[in-house]
Amino acid sequence: MLGASGAVGQELLQLLEERAFPVGELRLLASARSAGTTQSWKGQEHSVQEVTAASFEGVDLVLASAGGSVSRQWRQAITQAGALMVDNSSAFRMEDGVPLVVPEVNPKAAFQHQGVIANPNCTTILLTLALAPLAAKRPMRRVVVSTYQSASGAGARAMEELQTLSRVVLDGGEAKSEVLPHSLAFNLFLHNSPLQANSYCEEEMKMVNETRKIMDLPELRFTATCVRVPVLRAHSEAVNVEFEQPFPVDEARALLAAAPGVELIEQPECNRFPMPTDVTGRDPVAVGRIRQDISDPNALEFWLCGDQIRKGAALNAIQIAELLINA
Ligand code: NAP
Repeated sequence: MLGASGAVGQELLQLLEERAFPVGELRLLASARSAGTTQSWKGQEHSVQEVTAASFEGVDLVLASAGGSVSRQWRQAITQAGALMVDNSSAFRMEDGVPLVVPEVNPKAAFQHQGVIANPNCTTILLTLALAPLAAKRPMRRVVVSTYQSASGAGARAMEELQTLSRVVLDGGEAKSEVLPHSLAFNLFLHNSPLQANSYCEEEMKMVNETRKIMDLPELRFTATCVRVPVLRAHSEAVNVEFEQPFPVDEARALLAAAPGVELIEQPECNRFPMPTDVTGRDPVAVGRIRQDISDPNALEFWLCGDQIRKGAALNAIQIAELLINA
């Protein structure tokens, strides 16, 4: 495991145990910063080692979650050692020959790998779980998404910063951020990934390009606005989908209720729909508030929440590895 001390790495460790993933020997790798620290797994302490080329000798599977530059740095050593790399970073996602896989959506793609499989962007994984069952029924014409992304999407240190700065504000102090570009305490801001030439940020364009690749819909019209919100963990998304023809709401609801990895939370009688706290630490993506778009007879509106460290990263990566093991 490369990036074992991070937010995704911690979740991977927990899930390997929970899902009884077959592990002969576990190697926990990170940078020199956390080398020598220990992580508890299956009741035993395992020490974290600084990654070197020798780290991958004799390894079958590398679950990488140490960022794009680290993945690029070690890709060759990993594949030359004969290991399969399931990578959580965005480094290889759009590369030809690298499958981009959500097991409930495009499992067959995983088997086309040449040593590396990319785990998609977290907001994209959560979204495609809800889009795929609808797209399988009626052709999709356009998707408009706004995201409400939690601090944990920016890693373990961003979560700590939100907690610390919230206390500072409650105590009447001035919140000065160091990890995120602005304080999230009682605040929100547009996603801070680099702006592209088209004025969309990188996170928004990841959603556009990765959704098209995963769903094999290269022409899908798609636009997104990504926002960081003061939620500790679990992302939310407001989604508008236009189809080629009208899509009855009841049919969409039934399809989503039956979709793998999706849980419906729809209690209109008490105005109760998915919230981040419903899915924190849980596997399914919660979908609700499915309704006809009053401005377009061919469009539906819905809302979803998903734990992006879990299904949006660690769980999806482990499910990819399970697909290959169980084939
Ligand atoms: P994080 O909490 O900041 O953890 C980063 C991990 O990478 C730590 O274990 C860190 O080790 C390690 N690392 C950093 N630099 C390294 C280096 N030079 N050599 C070896 N290890 C190094 O970040 P995260 O949130 O877990 O995210 C990790 C990756 O997953 C990123 O690519 C991110 O985009 C992606 N991802 C994250 C989420 C999410 O919700 N958080 C979701 C999907 C994808 P040290 O402790 O030694 O610094």
